[in-house]
Amino acid sequence: MTQDSPASEQTIRASGRRMTMQRVKILEALKRRPGHSTTEQIYAQVCADDASAEMALSTVYRTLDTLTEMGLAVSFSDGGVTTYEWAGDDEPHHHLVCNGCGTTPEIAISALADLVETIEQQHGFAVDLRHMAIRGQCAGCREKSEAPR
Ligand SMILES: [Zn+2]
Ligand SMILES: [Zn+2]
Repeated sequence: MTQDSPASEQTIRASGRRMTMQRVKILEALKRRPGHSTTEQIYAQVCADDASAEMALSTVYRTLDTLTEMGLAVSFSDGGVTTYEWAGDDEPHHHLVCNGCGTTPEIAISALADLVETIEQQHGFAVDLRHMAIRGQCAGCREKSEAPR
């Protein structure tokens, strides 16, 4: 029994792709970061985790794409900025995106269950909603915009 290969390595192997050190390192960094991170933040995390990693930012970009294709990471694109998070044991979720301050709070997938059911019933369309962004204005920004000047 060996315990020395990290879980990420096994996950990548199980997905049938070639396991590279870069993929493992980036996946580990992704797991450590809460919520969504930009490529630069993930890059910084990789460097912080292992000062000798010697990884190029372009490698991080490419690898994050690969991890997303593999279903190990989810990407979330908003206003030209792409962020990533670990797809791992996190519940599937959607996001609210505030037009004012740009926060992206998560909402449970069940919040859209009625919508999904209505679409299925009315159109016979099987909705594949895994990671959706709903734009609007958060409570804080609404308060600010409604406050008398
Ligand atoms: Zn997310
Ligand atoms: Zn806001």
